[in-house]
Amino acid sequence: MAKIRAVLGDISVDKAGITLTHEHLRYAYAGCEYDHHNLFDVESAASQIGQTLRNGMSQHGIRTMVDLTPPELGRHPDLIAESARRSGMNIIATTGFYGEHNAIGIPYYWRRKSIEYLEELLVRDVTEGMVYDYKQTPYKAGILKVSTGALTAEPSPVGPHGRRIGVYEDRALRAAARAQRKLGCAINTHTHPVDWTLTNPGIEMLDVLEEDGADPGKVIIGHCFIKSTTDQLEAICKRGACLQIDHIGIPWMHESAEQLDEIMARQICELVDLDYLDRLVFSYDRFFFHGRGPVTKEEPDQFNTRVPFGYLFDKFAPRLKKKGFGASELQSVLVDNPWRLLAF
Ligand SMILES: [Zn+2]
Repeated sequence: MAKIRAVLGDISVDKAGITLTHEHLRYAYAGCEYDHHNLFDVESAASQIGQTLRNGMSQHGIRTMVDLTPPELGRHPDLIAESARRSGMNIIATTGFYGEHNAIGIPYYWRRKSIEYLEELLVRDVTEGMVYDYKQTPYKAGILKVSTGALTAEPSPVGPHGRRIGVYEDRALRAAARAQRKLGCAINTHTHPVDWTLTNPGIEMLDVLEEDGADPGKVIIGHCFIKSTTDQLEAICKRGACLQIDHIGIPWMHESAEQLDEIMARQICELVDLDYLDRLVFSYDRFFFHGRGPVTKEEPDQFNTRVPFGYLFDKFAPRLKKKGFGASELQSVLVDNPWRLLAF
């Protein structure tokens, strides 16, 4: 029987309950670990995170959450496990890579490796457990992540294959596709919103993933509601892949949460009218613990940290309900669809 691979062990699908598919327990950039202003202690961070998670469980019935943090963005297996223990939340950890631009994702060490070597990392993270600080942990990842795009207002450059996918991102995509074929687990992608104004990044990623054998039915395209058209989203659904509604309550590249929420709610309802309710999953992309040092002008506090954990239920669900998207539709996007995608 298919199971969902949470960090403290596999769980049966019917135990997953309400599931958020794209969050970050800790969000940090490489180098932060030797900053005098950024000391970090697993116990106190897990205590803080655990409290927030328990509130989400008791007040809104959230049972399961994917920590979609790739290793180079601060993934911390002990912190994930300890937060799961303290809260009772099922937390799914991630293996894979962030985008190569701005020198954030795919560290130089991994840029030198072959597709086969990358694939082995992904498979062993899921089947044996993740490595942290040169040590093997018993904590297994339960989903793969691939990414394209920069972290700026500029679009990603066109890569060597005529797509807005860099040379190392292309390798990471192919490694994930091959690992997905072996394992059967889901792949969740990060895309750059600005790229959606020039191409369909979801289709470009699916082209690469499917060339190397990935099952599009197990692919979730992330950040696809920030700067897209409904036609672009429909094209992804027609390919058999799923769409992630993220940044609920977080006005990424928009003037207000109100503005982006309304755009997303309208597109969600248009997709439901086109009969694609079974392709949608929801999340915030929330940072539960900010590991990027003190808040300054250069490193400002972010909406990803500030959005209330109940916002989806208190603010976004009522907005959807007014458009005819009610309790049974919410059950699909928060429970049934994530279970189907995460189980393998
Ligand atoms: Zn994210």
